[in-house]
Amino acid sequence: MTALYTHPIFKMHNNTISHPECPERIDSIINAIEKNNLMNQLSFPHFEKAMKEDILIGHDQKYVEDILSLSITSGQQHHLDTDTSINEHSVEAALLGLGAINQAVRDVCSKKYKNAFVLARPPGHHAEKDSAMGFCIFSNVALAALNALKRKFVKKVLIIDFDVHHGNGTENVIENHEDIYFFSSFQHPLYPNRSFNKNHPRILNLPLKSGTTGKEYLEVWSNDVLPWMHKIDFDLILISAGMDAHRLDPLANLNFETEDFAKLTKSIVNLSKDKCQGKIVSNLEGGYHLEALGESIATHLKELLDS
Ligand SMILES: [Zn+2]
Repeated sequence: MTALYTHPIFKMHNNTISHPECPERIDSIINAIEKNNLMNQLSFPHFEKAMKEDILIGHDQKYVEDILSLSITSGQQHHLDTDTSINEHSVEAALLGLGAINQAVRDVCSKKYKNAFVLARPPGHHAEKDSAMGFCIFSNVALAALNALKRKFVKKVLIIDFDVHHGNGTENVIENHEDIYFFSSFQHPLYPNRSFNKNHPRILNLPLKSGTTGKEYLEVWSNDVLPWMHKIDFDLILISAGMDAHRLDPLANLNFETEDFAKLTKSIVNLSKDKCQGKIVSNLEGGYHLEALGESIATHLKELLDS
């Protein structure tokens, strides 16, 4: 069975008014799950918020203590960077988001569920060791990989990040860790516009030009990316599932159709069956056209359910 980890607080975290990373993103996904009749096929497990040590495994102590000591008055916003602001619920939401993915990894590795999706906000893949960035507070997927290794659930982890933006935070947190492989595809140039590894033994970055279609992407995926993944060994796949490569997304200019996310997910599911007994934990990152986001996540979930 596929498990979905979510919590009401993920809708209570908010950025500034009219921010694209908005609570309605959760509603659009839940609506699409209901519309596609997936709700009764999913389990909704309980989870606890992450502990401080679960964050310190990948973030700098000063940054973690600064975030955890914030006291934000109801109705106030606190700005962490130019496009990331938080309210009185945000730190709690970030702690529960990390708790959710850590529990999902535990449950999939123990075979309680065959795979899992974490429906949480704020997202995580731009948060670096010492800073919030790009709507993200904690680097959830990278931290989940580090926690899985520390708890000896796995020996090696592959992170697949197909969000339209480079997973700079994930890369920053894991790049020196020899048991984690990282693949990130992203429109380039585009936010975060940072340097990225080009010849790293465990990191494959795939910059894509504006206008790239899902069909073109899937050709490169089959010809260049899958062979790289087949050459390495891992016991778990973590996905940074951003749906902002969709042609309707307002923050980027790639041209994926909704069904391209189904094809990509199916290919990842097949890879997981070949390499790691189907173990996948997928985590929501970006995706800012509400309807396209909902339908793209529903199609992603259908492939996880059908695996
Ligand atoms: Zn993104």
